[in-house]
Amino acid sequence: MRYVSYHRIVVKLGTTLLTSGRDHLDLAVMATLVEQVVALHARGRQIIVVSSGAVAAGRERLRRLPPGDVHGTPLKQVLASVGQSHLMSTYETLFSRHDIIIAQALLTRDSVVDRAGYLNARNTLLALCEMGVICIVNENDVVAVEELGERRFGDNDNLSAMVSNLVDADVLVILTDTGGLYTADPRTHPDATLIPRVDTIDASVEALAGGTVSGQGVGGMATKVEAARLATCSGVEVVVAAGREPDVLLRLDSGERLGTLFAASASRLESRKRWMASGLASHGRIVVDRGAVSALKKGTGSLLPAGVTAVGGTFKRGDIVDIVGDGGARIASGIVNYDSGDVERIRGQHTGRLAELLEHVYGDEIVHRNNMVVL
Ligand code: GLU
Repeated sequence: MRYVSYHRIVVKLGTTLLTSGRDHLDLAVMATLVEQVVALHARGRQIIVVSSGAVAAGRERLRRLPPGDVHGTPLKQVLASVGQSHLMSTYETLFSRHDIIIAQALLTRDSVVDRAGYLNARNTLLALCEMGVICIVNENDVVAVEELGERRFGDNDNLSAMVSNLVDADVLVILTDTGGLYTADPRTHPDATLIPRVDTIDASVEALAGGTVSGQGVGGMATKVEAARLATCSGVEVVVAAGREPDVLLRLDSGERLGTLFAASASRLESRKRWMASGLASHGRIVVDRGAVSALKKGTGSLLPAGVTAVGGTFKRGDIVDIVGDGGARIASGIVNYDSGDVERIRGQHTGRLAELLEHVYGDEIVHRNNMVVL
């Protein structure tokens, strides 16, 4: 692995790893992971930790609580609230042994959904890195209520990809209870072999990851591959590896090949494009025909009215929209030149007709190539 020269590392620690699949935080495992983070820090790396385990830690604290919801509130949020504090106090104890100062950042989708929130979170995390403080990030599960569904990150794999994009990380290391991506689920197929490197996350890779869910954690391999796609298309390399492998972080940092490496599928995009690629900031959808899909995928053209078949949601000129194929798969995101009403009016039309159909013409493109990121 070539990230010996990597400088900024996001490390994601999953619930099943932090609890060893049991009903409480595994202090020995956490101490080992903290020691490795401290050693990387001593090597001059900037590290941000995305840690799950709040809900599990809450369950550990509130063992006698009946299952189900409490006072109409999802139990998970109560557990996360209690557990986040327990989780952080455990990290405080472990890091303070090494004289390392830690910080906490609880993010929600909404907190990074607009340009200002994104920049605030980015600036804070980068400032902490520069000060040598190790920030522990989790989703703010208390605010990110279940009912809002898609407004949650929902799993920390996707959150860690978002954080990696936010801080322009060089690499995202997702530590889990399995050793990486296998040719089949290793728990049910003993002959499954590890895939050491994935260059393109295509349907066959997604199929390999499908449906593997582990222990108390939310994400299985499917969310890890989803996160890998989000991070790699912004130029961040992703490694999924076994957290219990001795000195896994240090060995990866020294160039040893462990787990599965998902190679960055794009060169580093500038920050604005990363933000668009996250899909979190999107205000609506523009559905395009096959011709437009292939033109956009070639990476040379802008989105013109002729290729648009439908408009979803209400958006304004300047908003970010997702561009999707007719099957619903997102192929690009970008800053739109027209309000949704205008796009509805000019969809399917040739650019020569724009002046006659619109009050203001802002150019031939609905989304200009320069303001678009193709996934
Ligand atoms: N935010 C959740 C927690 O700390 C974890 C979500 C996940 O496992 O991905 O418990």
